[in-house]
Amino acid sequence: MKRGFQLFQGFHGFQRLGAVGFSLLLAGAASAQPADTTAVLASIEQKASVYRDVALKIWSLAEVGYQEQQSSALLQEQLKAAGFTMAAGVADMPTAFTATWGSGRPVIGIIGEFDALPGLSQAADPNRRAVVENGAGHGCGHHLFGTSATAAAIAVKEWLLAHQRGGTLRFYGTPAEEGGGGKVYMLRAGLFDDVDAVVTMHPGDRNAASASSNLANISGKIKFRGVSAHAAGAPHRGRSALDGVEAMNAMVNLMREHVPSDTRIHYVITNGGGAPNVVPDFAEAYYYARHNDMRVLDGIWERIMNAARGAALGTDTRMELDLTNAVWNVLPNSYLVNLMQQNLRKVGGYEYTPGERQFAETIRKTLEGELPPIDSANAVFAPEPGIGNASTDLGDVSWRVPTVQLTAATWVPGTPAHSWQAVAAGGTSIGIKGMIVAAKAMSLMAIDLFTEPSHLARAREEFDQRRGPNFKYATRIADRKPPLDYRK
Ligand SMILES: [Zn+2]
Ligand SMILES: [Zn+2]
Repeated sequence: MKRGFQLFQGFHGFQRLGAVGFSLLLAGAASAQPADTTAVLASIEQKASVYRDVALKIWSLAEVGYQEQQSSALLQEQLKAAGFTMAAGVADMPTAFTATWGSGRPVIGIIGEFDALPGLSQAADPNRRAVVENGAGHGCGHHLFGTSATAAAIAVKEWLLAHQRGGTLRFYGTPAEEGGGGKVYMLRAGLFDDVDAVVTMHPGDRNAASASSNLANISGKIKFRGVSAHAAGAPHRGRSALDGVEAMNAMVNLMREHVPSDTRIHYVITNGGGAPNVVPDFAEAYYYARHNDMRVLDGIWERIMNAARGAALGTDTRMELDLTNAVWNVLPNSYLVNLMQQNLRKVGGYEYTPGERQFAETIRKTLEGELPPIDSANAVFAPEPGIGNASTDLGDVSWRVPTVQLTAATWVPGTPAHSWQAVAAGGTSIGIKGMIVAAKAMSLMAIDLFTEPSHLARAREEFDQRRGPNFKYATRIADRKPPLDYRK
């Protein structure tokens, strides 16, 4: 989902490589002998052209949520060839998979996404030009997301093998992040139950560990059913389902004054009947409600449902809810953020070639607002806490397992997510270079977690404290099946 907020935050946090700060924050952490990670970084470099080809294939395929058969297969091929034990089609989703290496504790997860967005087809060209008119495109960069996570998993596996380390490394191929909630179903199936920490990335316009939270989101279709009748001949015999929808919307719109001001409620009427002279016996409204705390959102959603029930009662219609998706807000873990930032600094950013710079300059002419410096990719920015307006199914993972994410500069500085400019840069060497930065930083991060038990203990301590006593994660989607056809 959209991550524009995070990408457009101010630049007061801009720091050059080598700046101090995070080392101080970590001064209290016990640390073992630093792991020799030169070979890990070299291995990713050596295979960079393989990963570039995989990422660009997924970019060209641009498969949308739950239809990512070939994209999922491309990542699975890499992991299988590297010796991981594969489980495909997990949690009743044909494109979801896990790839596991090793055994015993700790269990470290690395997450990769690979779904594209409808309507964003775009060539790897700095001017707007669709490859397929109205086709899909990787506007959220998930081709780089899935591939960099795969590269990281393989590099960490090689390191575990070379150093004869125990522990379990598990890659999660998570489909349909863009509104399909793949991770929520994998959580519900218990696939994260034994995991100690999760490491992941997201494409962006800069390099930084992600310190921000975002919005929990509950969405559903409210279906009203009435009785059809001739609207002029026998209106007294009819009961309008559209009346149900309109009464519900009116009540929810009144409710806006009496919810926390940072609540977001949006709806569309997906069915309002067919003809004015027929009393509609079916009508449907599609609602999203968001707030930065799922437990607050639960109460708001219940009031929206009360408005729906009240509307049905008052219009003599019936209503039912199809809860299509529900994702938690992301729970940050500042201990892991600081450790990730330290690892990202070890990797550093990258320089543009003259050709990449020219591409970036052309793209930037199409972007609005104040833009970060054009050479931002060679820097590592400070993590910025705060609350973005995005929602993602990674939120659910972050309440179940201590989770850390970084953003890598895969897009031209100033590019928002879900834009043609993001698709364009993601299909070039700019996207690939950012992807390699992310793969390296994730590898170092995972190796730290395998090497030094106190990292996991500290992360867990903060996790428990942030969640509060007696907290138990539960999804809001109850027993519904994955919406495998939501993009059809
Ligand atoms: Zn997105
Ligand atoms: Zn995304």
